[in-house]
This record gives sequence, C-alpha cells and structure tokens, in this order.
Amino acid sequence: MYDITIIGAGIIGSLIAHNLSKFDLKVLVLEKENDVAEGATGANSAMVHSGHDPKSGTLKAKYNLLGNRMFPDLCKELQVEYLKVGAYVVATSPEEEETLEGLIKNCQDRQIPYDVMGGTEARIHEKNLSDNVTKALSLPTTGIICPWEVSIAAVEEAILNGVELKLDYEVTKIRKEDGKFIINDEIETKVLINCAGVHVDDITNMLRKSPYKVEARKGEYFVFDRLNGTYVRRVIYPTPSAKGKGVLAVPTIHGNVLLGPNSDFTADKEDNTTSDGLDYIRREINKTMKNIPYNKMIHTFAGLRPHIDLNDFYIKEDDQIENFIHVAGIESPGISSAPAIAKDVVEGIVIPKFTESKVKEEYVRRRPFIDMRHMSEEQINELIKKDPDFGKIICRCEKISKGQIKDVIHRECGARTIKGVKMRCRPGMGRCQGGFCEPEVLKILSEELHEDVKNIKLDRDGSNVFMANAKEDL
Ligand SMILES: Cc1cc2nc3c(=O)[nH]c(=O)nc-3n(C[C@H](O)[C@H](O)[C@H](O)COP(=O)(O)OP(=O)(O)OC[C@H]3O[C@@H](n4cnc5c(N)ncnc54)[C@H](O)[C@@H]3O)c2cc1C
Repeated sequence: MYDITIIGAGIIGSLIAHNLSKFDLKVLVLEKENDVAEGATGANSAMVHSGHDPKSGTLKAKYNLLGNRMFPDLCKELQVEYLKVGAYVVATSPEEEETLEGLIKNCQDRQIPYDVMGGTEARIHEKNLSDNVTKALSLPTTGIICPWEVSIAAVEEAILNGVELKLDYEVTKIRKEDGKFIINDEIETKVLINCAGVHVDDITNMLRKSPYKVEARKGEYFVFDRLNGTYVRRVIYPTPSAKGKGVLAVPTIHGNVLLGPNSDFTADKEDNTTSDGLDYIRREINKTMKNIPYNKMIHTFAGLRPHIDLNDFYIKEDDQIENFIHVAGIESPGISSAPAIAKDVVEGIVIPKFTESKVKEEYVRRRPFIDMRHMSEEQINELIKKDPDFGKIICRCEKISKGQIKDVIHRECGARTIKGVKMRCRPGMGRCQGGFCEPEVLKILSEELHEDVKNIKLDRDGSNVFMANAKEDL
C-alpha cells in the first residue's frame, strides 16, 4: 500500500511529488499520458507573474506572490533555467491608465517592486511597443521558465529519491474501503491527491458529487523563431480586462517569442488551434506591439486552462472524505503559484497525517540536462572525447547532438516519444519544426530503446502515419 498517491503529473503533481520525495514515505504518481507535463503545463505562456493581477483575498493572489518569490531558488535547486526578464503592463487610453492605477495599488499593498513611466520612455527600452502606448507599469520581478522542464526535472529528482511514476495509467475508478482508497481495483493508498487539471471534477465524481465543475478555457499562440531579445526583451501585457490578462508578447527562455493567448471556453477539451483564435491574437496584439515579424513565425499551439465555477484555486482536504485532497481550478497563475501550492499541500495538509515520517538524511540531486549552447569549446571537446555522438548534430536548427538525445532517453522518466525528446532537449523546436531531424530522432529512440520504429510514438496521440513513412526512409 502507498502512503500517498498523486493523480496527474503536471507542474502541480510533479512539485508535490518532489516535495514529498524529501520524506521517508511511499509515494506514487499516476499519469494517463505517456509523459510528464502533457496537460496545461505543456502549453502556456511560461511566465512567473509578479502577483500584481489576481483579486485581493483570493488563493490566486496569495500563491502567485509566494510562488514568484520561490521560483529562483527552486530553479537553482532543480538546475533548470529561470530568467527574471521583467514585464510592462501598458495602457493605450485614459480608461486603461485608470485600470493601471488599480494594479499599482496591488503592487503597493503586496510589496511588489514596480515603476511607472510614459509611453515614450517605455519605447526607449522596448522599441517595438505600439505608438499608441501612453503609460507603462514596469514589474521587474516577472520571470520566465520552461514549465515542462521544471516538471520533468522535479519528477526525475523525485524518482531518484524513491517516488514511483506510472505513465499511460488512467485513473477510471476509485473507491474508499477500510480507510484506504482503491484505484482501478488494484492500487491501494492512504492519501489521495487530485491534481488532474481539466479532469479534476471527473476524478472527484468517482468518489462523491464534485463541489466544482471544470470548464476548459482555450488559449492559442503564435511561436516565432529565436529572435534572442531583438524583438521584445520583457513580457508585454495589455491592461487586463474581464477576459483576463489579454494577449501578450513573451520572450521565452530559449530566445523565441510567443504572441497570445486568447481565452475562449471550449466544450470539447481539445487543444487544437483555430483560425478564429489566431485571427483574434493578430488583431489584439496590434494594440500593444508594432513591426510584428510574421515572416519569422514557425509554429502555433493551444493549451487548456482548467477553469472551475468557484473562480479561484480550490485547495483543501475534502470535507466529506478524509485523506482526499483537492488541488483544483489551477488555471493561471498556476505555474507561478505551483511551488507555493506544492509546499502548502505537503507541509500543511499531507505531512501532519504522517507524524512518524522524517525528512530523509540523504537526498540525491539530479544531473542537469546537457545544454551544449552554454558550453565552452573546451567543454564540448571534452564531451566529444568521451562520446563522439556529442559531435554528431541531429537537429541543425537548434544544434542538438545525438549525444544529447541519447542522454534524455537514458534518464529517470526518460523520453519515450519524439515529442518527449523535443520537450527535453529541443530537436524539432527550430525553424524546420522537425522536418529534417524527426526521422533521425525516431531512429535514435528505436536504437536506444531496442524498439521497432512502429512502436515509437510521435506524441501522446501516437499517430503512426509518420512512423510508417519514416520507416521507409530509414
Ligand atoms: C493558455 C494558457 C496560458 C497560461 N499561462 C500561464 C502563465 O504564463 N503563467 C502561469 O502562472 N500560469 C499559466 N497558465 C496556467 C498553468 O498552465 C496551469 O495552471 C498549470 O499548468 C496547471 O498545472 P496542473 O498540474 O494543475 O495541470 P496539468 O498540467 O493539466 O496536469 C494535469 C495532469 O493530470 C493528468 N490526468 C488527468 N486525468 C487523469 C486521470 N484520470 N488519470 C491519470 N492522470 C490524469 C493529465 O494528463 C495531466 O498531465 C496558463 C494556462 C494556459 C492554458
């Protein structure tokens, strides 16, 4: 029997598992997809918001602020990238300038560092800001991360310290008997933590009538090639409206630029982009930005926000079922809040149930991903001397070597799909979007996993058409 079982390996489940791996407890993570971070955590703006925006008194406001302060240390601990790039919230009319005043008040009340400047000064720092911008609220503590890298790193380290992960494991049935939960008639656990993103209500309904209902709110994006700070250096928000934070321009930690998202409720919980959604982004971004380099656009994607009808995060032990913990409604700012939510769930709710449990004396640190972009020539030569595959470039756009691909396959929670490799070390993320390197990545996965190419999946849907064609080419 497990002490604790976590349903869902998004950033919330992953960081809860990571926190729990520091204690001598038997912990299991169940994930229905074939990799970590396949839900909202894999498709978002990747920002650590400063905490200026959520309504006062909400859990969103509390955890966003705390999470923003925790992120630099967490990323250092997990050895993943974090960049404090800062942000401007910009106004283009007297009404929007008035809305900025409310955000300034939030900054003052919450002790968030800020600055205010006119449009002309803001354009000195961000040359592609629209000429319509009249005022900007600068938020220097805004950060950017790679959310799936944080989740993968957290799960890797959790596994190194004894946590079990079952992928491709969909929870379809739960009952509680003799003080323990029985999942899918086979897994027994004392405590059950529900971090199932857009499916949290489905999980809760397996045990009782859910006190909340999830609706998926889609957000779509354009992705631009690596512009490395030449187009936009910090995050640009429009002034927020009833629909949320609005359409942003966001530099990513890998040097790309995102434009988006929109925010539309969707009944089907499918994360495909639509021409209507992308047209909306094109229209909205013109309000805050100019000279948009559409000739550098390489990709579009969409993510689903798990919005609950209570309009705030819902984080608590169930009031009818002991040891059943809800971590529900984790829409934006869920990434920014994740470290603080995980800490509170573990230290505030779970650990007090295990009074005998102790912090482990020995804790194993993960090895960081091998990122040759940040290495000197000597370091690269040293790597190639150890394994010549570090000298074989597979992805020409992102300059990723065979050695790096092999490394991400042979790790705890290693890559099993083409997308899994792409998420960990980026072949296919560049301007050709995998047109040249995907068959090569497939071949490496097949060789390293000793699997026929037909059995290697492209992504979570595992479309095999590409595999069949690729096999002919190999
Ligand atoms: C468009 C968009 C932009 C966003 N931008 C930001 C941002 O810039 N900053 C920010 O702070 N937040 C942002 N967010 C919010 C953030 O992405 C989410 O709050 C966060 O990723 C939620 O993490 P999670 O772990 O709760 O959910 P998820 O990442 O969705 O993980 C839930 C997991 O549960 C699994 N699961 C579901 N049902 C089952 C089952 N029956 N059995 C087993 N496993 C199951 C799923 O497969 C999934 O992997 C954005 C969200 C979207 C969609």
